[in-house]
Amino acid sequence: MTPISARCARCDSGFSLFAVVEDGTGACPHCLQPLVAGDPGALLEWAAAADAAQYRLSASVHILQQLRGHLIVDWQSVLQSLAEEAGGEACRMFRPGAGWIGGRSGAGRARSSMRALKGTSAS
Ligand SMILES: [Zn+2]
Repeated sequence: MTPISARCARCDSGFSLFAVVEDGTGACPHCLQPLVAGDPGALLEWAAAADAAQYRLSASVHILQQLRGHLIVDWQSVLQSLAEEAGGEACRMFRPGAGWIGGRSGAGRARSSMRALKGTSAS
Protein backbone atom coordinates (compact mmCIF):
# COMPACT_ATOMS: atom_id res chain seq x y z
CA MET A 1 0.00 0.00 0.00
CA THR A 2 1.31 3.43 -0.92
CA PRO A 3 1.26 5.84 2.03
CA ILE A 4 -0.62 9.11 1.66
CA SER A 5 1.87 11.62 0.36
CA ALA A 6 1.95 15.31 1.21
CA ARG A 7 4.04 18.31 0.29
CA CYS A 8 5.31 21.40 2.06
CA ALA A 9 4.33 24.50 0.11
CA ARG A 10 7.19 26.40 1.75
CA CYS A 11 10.19 24.24 0.73
CA ASP A 12 8.40 22.13 -1.91
CA SER A 13 9.58 18.84 -0.45
CA GLY A 14 7.45 15.73 -0.37
CA PHE A 15 6.94 13.33 2.53
CA SER A 16 4.42 10.83 3.75
CA LEU A 17 1.59 12.16 5.86
CA PHE A 18 2.35 9.50 8.43
CA ALA A 19 5.87 10.92 8.90
CA VAL A 20 4.23 14.10 10.18
CA VAL A 21 2.05 12.10 12.56
CA GLU A 22 5.02 10.13 13.89
CA ASP A 23 7.08 13.28 14.35
CA GLY A 24 4.27 14.80 16.36
CA THR A 25 5.36 18.43 16.15
CA GLY A 26 3.38 19.47 13.08
CA ALA A 27 6.57 20.67 11.41
CA CYS A 28 7.77 19.95 7.89
CA PRO A 29 10.28 17.05 8.05
CA HIS A 30 12.62 18.94 5.71
CA CYS A 31 12.56 22.66 6.50
CA LEU A 32 11.27 22.11 10.08
CA GLN A 33 8.80 24.99 9.75
CA PRO A 34 5.20 24.56 10.97
CA LEU A 35 2.96 23.04 8.32
CA VAL A 36 -0.17 24.77 9.61
CA ALA A 37 -0.80 28.07 11.36
CA GLY A 38 -1.34 27.85 15.09
CA ASP A 39 -2.02 24.68 17.05
CA PRO A 40 -1.00 21.57 15.05
CA GLY A 41 -3.53 19.43 16.94
CA ALA A 42 -6.02 19.23 14.09
CA LEU A 43 -3.24 18.45 11.60
CA LEU A 44 -1.90 15.59 13.71
CA GLU A 45 -5.34 14.24 14.57
CA TRP A 46 -6.73 14.28 11.05
CA ALA A 47 -3.52 13.19 9.36
CA ALA A 48 -3.57 10.13 11.62
CA ALA A 49 -7.27 9.64 10.87
CA ALA A 50 -6.66 9.82 7.11
CA ASP A 51 -3.77 7.37 7.31
CA ALA A 52 -5.78 4.92 9.40
CA ALA A 53 -8.80 5.28 7.12
CA GLN A 54 -6.68 4.61 4.04
CA TYR A 55 -5.23 1.51 5.67
CA ARG A 56 -8.68 0.21 6.60
CA LEU A 57 -10.05 0.98 3.17
CA SER A 58 -7.15 -0.82 1.53
CA ALA A 59 -7.69 -3.84 3.77
CA SER A 60 -11.41 -3.75 2.96
CA VAL A 61 -10.70 -3.77 -0.78
CA HIS A 62 -8.48 -6.82 -0.42
CA ILE A 63 -10.93 -8.72 1.75
CA LEU A 64 -14.04 -7.86 -0.29
CA GLN A 65 -12.29 -8.87 -3.50
CA GLN A 66 -11.42 -12.25 -2.02
CA LEU A 67 -15.00 -13.05 -1.06
CA ARG A 68 -16.66 -15.51 -3.40
CA GLY A 69 -20.03 -14.53 -4.80
CA HIS A 70 -21.62 -11.89 -6.95
CA LEU A 71 -20.54 -8.64 -5.35
CA ILE A 72 -18.84 -6.00 -7.45
CA VAL A 73 -17.92 -2.87 -5.50
CA ASP A 74 -17.67 0.37 -7.44
CA TRP A 75 -14.34 1.57 -6.03
CA GLN A 76 -14.28 4.32 -8.61
CA SER A 77 -17.08 5.99 -6.67
CA VAL A 78 -14.77 6.23 -3.64
CA LEU A 79 -12.04 7.90 -5.67
CA GLN A 80 -14.56 10.24 -7.22
CA SER A 81 -16.00 11.36 -3.90
CA LEU A 82 -12.48 11.87 -2.52
CA ALA A 83 -11.57 14.02 -5.51
CA GLU A 84 -14.73 16.06 -4.98
CA GLU A 85 -13.95 16.53 -1.26
CA ALA A 86 -10.39 17.61 -2.01
CA GLY A 87 -11.60 20.26 -4.42
CA GLY A 88 -9.36 22.00 -6.90
CA GLU A 89 -6.02 21.41 -5.25
CA ALA A 90 -5.64 17.68 -4.76
CA CYS A 91 -2.68 18.11 -2.41
CA ARG A 92 -4.79 19.82 0.25
CA MET A 93 -5.82 17.70 3.21
CA PHE A 94 -9.43 17.44 4.24
CA ARG A 95 -10.71 20.14 6.54
CA PRO A 96 -11.28 18.92 10.11
CA GLY A 97 -15.00 18.52 10.56
CA ALA A 98 -15.56 17.34 7.02
CA GLY A 99 -14.52 13.89 8.18
CA TRP A 100 -15.84 10.91 6.31
CA ILE A 101 -14.70 8.36 8.88
CA GLY A 102 -17.40 9.19 11.38
CA GLY A 103 -16.50 12.55 12.84
CA ARG A 104 -14.09 13.86 15.42
CA SER A 105 -14.56 11.09 17.97
CA GLY A 106 -13.59 8.51 15.37
CA ALA A 107 -10.01 9.71 15.08
CA GLY A 108 -8.64 8.19 18.26
CA ARG A 109 -10.42 4.97 17.55
CA ALA A 110 -9.06 4.90 14.02
CA ARG A 111 -5.56 5.56 15.30
CA SER A 112 -5.62 2.68 17.75
CA SER A 113 -7.22 0.33 15.28
CA MET A 114 -4.55 1.27 12.77
CA ARG A 115 -1.91 0.17 15.25
CA ALA A 116 -3.83 -3.03 15.85
CA LEU A 117 -4.16 -3.68 12.14
CA LYS A 118 -0.52 -2.94 11.43
CA GLY A 119 0.52 -5.24 14.25
CA THR A 120 -1.30 -8.19 12.75
CA SER A 121 -0.60 -7.63 9.08
CA ALA A 122 2.68 -7.80 7.21
CA SER A 123 1.92 -5.19 4.55
ZN1 LIG B 1 9.14 22.39 4.31
